[in-house]
Amino acid sequence: MPKIRIAGAGIAGSYLWRLLTRKGMSPNDIEIVDPGSKTHCGITPCGFAITRQFYPLCREVGLDPQKYVVSIPGRSYQGNIRVRAKGYVLSIDKPAFIRDLLEGAKVLPSPSSATVARIIDATGNERAHIGPHSSDRLAPCIQRKVEFSKPAPIRQLPHHVGFAWVIPLEGNCAHVGIGSYTYDIETMKGIVAELTEGTKTICSCRGYIRVTGPILPLVRDNVWAVGEAGGLVDPLTGSGMVPAMVSAKLLTEHWDDPAGYEAAVMREYGWFRETQEIVRTLLETNEFKFWNFRLWKKYLEFSDLDPSIANLMNPGLMGTLLVNTALTLFQLPSVFQLLRSMKRS
Ligand SMILES: Cc1cc2nc3c(=O)[nH]c(=O)nc-3n(C[C@H](O)[C@H](O)[C@H](O)COP(=O)(O)OP(=O)(O)OC[C@H]3O[C@@H](n4cnc5c(N)ncnc54)[C@H](O)[C@@H]3O)c2cc1C
Repeated sequence: MPKIRIAGAGIAGSYLWRLLTRKGMSPNDIEIVDPGSKTHCGITPCGFAITRQFYPLCREVGLDPQKYVVSIPGRSYQGNIRVRAKGYVLSIDKPAFIRDLLEGAKVLPSPSSATVARIIDATGNERAHIGPHSSDRLAPCIQRKVEFSKPAPIRQLPHHVGFAWVIPLEGNCAHVGIGSYTYDIETMKGIVAELTEGTKTICSCRGYIRVTGPILPLVRDNVWAVGEAGGLVDPLTGSGMVPAMVSAKLLTEHWDDPAGYEAAVMREYGWFRETQEIVRTLLETNEFKFWNFRLWKKYLEFSDLDPSIANLMNPGLMGTLLVNTALTLFQLPSVFQLLRSMKRS
């Protein structure tokens, strides 16, 4: 009989499975359940951009990060403005990483009838076990994997509340998508169509990014939430892969200590509540309030950068933050104007 059930074999559930089995828990004591995805790559959601924090997290579970890295862009564009990326952001083959994390696991499509002592809710957007949250917000996203005629640079096109992106993958392939509160789905589709004009489409999918910040309690009765199910995604950038893995790690470090687990998660990601507030204020009052030095410092740490003066002066990084702030703050140009000017240049 399994002792625990991990519901969800996304990045949080799979990483947790691997951590627990490496710590000596018998695979027979863990039931891992996921209905799977019918998408081309076999997982959902399929955003593959990650920071250098991926390297130690990958090594921590005995895997070689180089096996999964598919692209390390040297430059990035905020709209049309070029900034240095210098390897701060990379993209990984997330399906391959999840497959390897799950080595030795038998993932069930639905839960068995066994009664388990603990359920880990790693079901992402669904919160299938921990339950709904009254002020939850999910931003709709659409994405395509396409093949360009030459390698595409990494690009963000911020707009009022949300942004479109181009994330280079292997060869000439890239993910092109948009997450937005400003535009409806048809407009979002139009933007992705413009960004992917002349490319070969490999697959496409839809999803949601939680724009809520950490949702407490993370532990209710015998259910423990990890990853996006616990709201652990940065509402401003939509980055959720690193927090999913880090929260799984924190859970193993506070295995029988719910209060300790919540406190550790809040120490690490409590500031997502502030970035969530920025998104809400922008949405409700049209003001973009991002003048908090402590938050800028948090973003440096989140990007695996030491928040030293040297890095605060880093033109690539500060350029990215400043250009994004300016584009969002002054709401200019709109994503459509950016598209037009990209075509002209
Ligand atoms: C379009 C898009 C692009 C993104 N791009 C990026 C990016 O580039 N970088 C980044 O860091 N983050 C990105 N994100 C966010 C990131 O993908 C998520 O935050 C991250 O995957 C969360 O991991 P998770 O394991 O907590 O949840 P998920 O990855 O959502 O995994 C949840 C799993 O639970 C399963 N499941 C659902 N219901 C049940 C159930 N009832 N029982 C059992 N299993 C269930 C699902 O099938 C899924 O496998 C993106 C999100 C979207 C939607």
